[in-house]
Amino acid sequence: MSGQPSIGVLALQGDVREHLRMLAACGARPRPVRRPSELDDVAALVIPGGESTTISKLALDFGLTDPIRKRIAGGMPGYGSCAGMVMLAAEVLDGRPDQVGFGGIEMTVRRNAFGRQVDSFEAPVVLGGLGGAGAAAEPLRAVFIRAPWVERVGPGVAVLGRVASTGAPRASTPQSGAAPDGRIVAVRQGSLLATAFHPELTGDLRVHRLFVEMAREVDHAARSED
Ligand code: GLN
Repeated sequence: MSGQPSIGVLALQGDVREHLRMLAACGARPRPVRRPSELDDVAALVIPGGESTTISKLALDFGLTDPIRKRIAGGMPGYGSCAGMVMLAAEVLDGRPDQVGFGGIEMTVRRNAFGRQVDSFEAPVVLGGLGGAGAAAEPLRAVFIRAPWVERVGPGVAVLGRVASTGAPRASTPQSGAAPDGRIVAVRQGSLLATAFHPELTGDLRVHRLFVEMAREVDHAARSED
């Protein structure tokens, strides 16, 4: 069924159901992925928000770490929200020493960067790269829950969004000691997308629509090569 890419959601821990629902609402064919054979059946993969140390451990236990790394290195589209962003980072600060990610995006991400005093908050984020006139103009109401931020990006990474200076939690004391205003919270590198926030917890489909479009493009290109 072309036009409807099969998109997996890594279903080891975290807000799996919410991503499945958003992807279905965007016209994709979503399915949970818990084992390597299920990964083989999908054209793209969402790594949900949750807890990256737990996802890391379970991915190793389920034999998924290497297969996911290989698919990502081979060009499979991937989208990570929050813990998923941590999993896609080439480098993680304030991670657990035994934490193992999938990599793929040349970026350094700091876990729990916004500080313990403000575990969760909402802030407007103007997101670039959404395409479609008007779609990008309206800021997203971004939900951050013990969120990471991006401290460094490589030359191949496009910064899509930053925390607006008006919406950041000024009362907090970030662990890194740096101000949260203007921090990078959404990036794209090729067919990989990551956000520090959770669009799956809002009714705003724009980020998932973008990802489904990215998956569709890669899926079509792969089919036309067959
Ligand atoms: N702090 C979590 C981590 O490091 C992420 C939190 C989230 O996904 N809401 O994985």
